[in-house]
Amino acid sequence: MTTWQQQLQNAVTDRSELYRLLSLSDTPLSERTEFPLRVPRSFIARMECANPRDPLLLQVLVQTEEFNTRLGFIKDPLKEMQSTPVPGLLHKYYGRVLLVLTGSCAVNCRYCFRRHFPYNANTAIRHWPDILAYLTRDLSIEEVILSGGDPLLLDDDKLTLLIHDLEKIPHVKTLRIHTRLPIVIPDRITPALVRVLSEIRLRSVMVLHSNHANEIGADVAEAMLELKKYACLLNQSVLLKDVNDSVDTLVQLSKRLFEVGVLPYYVHQLDPVAGAHHFYVAPEVGLKLMKGVREKLPGYLVPQYVQEIPGELSKSVII
Ligand SMILES: *Cc1c(COP(=O)(O)O)cnc(C)c1O
Ligand code: SF4
Repeated sequence: MTTWQQQLQNAVTDRSELYRLLSLSDTPLSERTEFPLRVPRSFIARMECANPRDPLLLQVLVQTEEFNTRLGFIKDPLKEMQSTPVPGLLHKYYGRVLLVLTGSCAVNCRYCFRRHFPYNANTAIRHWPDILAYLTRDLSIEEVILSGGDPLLLDDDKLTLLIHDLEKIPHVKTLRIHTRLPIVIPDRITPALVRVLSEIRLRSVMVLHSNHANEIGADVAEAMLELKKYACLLNQSVLLKDVNDSVDTLVQLSKRLFEVGVLPYYVHQLDPVAGAHHFYVAPEVGLKLMKGVREKLPGYLVPQYVQEIPGELSKSVII
């Protein structure tokens, strides 16, 4: 058995290898990108062979469109750099803070809104004592959100230490982890990780990032059923052109999530980040899709269609 760390190491970063694994003929790129191709093999295994339009492939494949510019698509669309009182800590919303724990991910999603984020200077780990001091001082903070990059890239020992530090702050009640790792490498849900969540005082919420039902195979299901015992499991997805911009695809995703014990939480409007404009779905189109989804599913399987507007005190529901 290969460990999740080995799977991480073995991720495909070479375009021609990806094409070969999927029996597709290579179309070389002349452009170079600072946000390179990166995709674990277990995720590739869920792609359909010989299908250049596979919805999982499109999320990771560097395409020529990325190198074009489009008006309004910029490097820091959320102006996140402006709400960091301590490097690595984002405090924009009442009662909860978001910690940027790591600088990278197991997979490089082409639509990622943090693709231009200057991570190295800004990860919470490097400023941990300052972060703890900030959290301890502000009694309004009840929820700490571990985000990234992907927080589950930290190993279990490190994560356990950090979580125990957070647990000692009396007014913190909830630990939330935002991650795509269990989707791309399900073996990341280790017994040690499950154990930490089962032992802490904090209520745990895990928000998975899955965009398509095909991402959720038997191995993901198994990991979720184990986690479900100790954490509330939610999912957020991003509405992406050619990946999940149809009523049927969104309905299938909600149903599949529910089958594995996860409730749909948010479907995000794409943040207008430079290099991701080819995934754009207009809000009018998104609203029609959501109406279609609501007609097919019970309310608890309909995620909220939201966007982040810089300066707002919460995410905004698109209506
Ligand atoms: C999305 C987000 C949160 C969490 O918002 P919820 O609506 O509670 O999911 C917190 N902080 C930041 C900076 C965020 O972007
Ligand atoms: S997992 Fe999330 S943060 Fe990481 S590259 Fe993908 S979209 Fe970006």
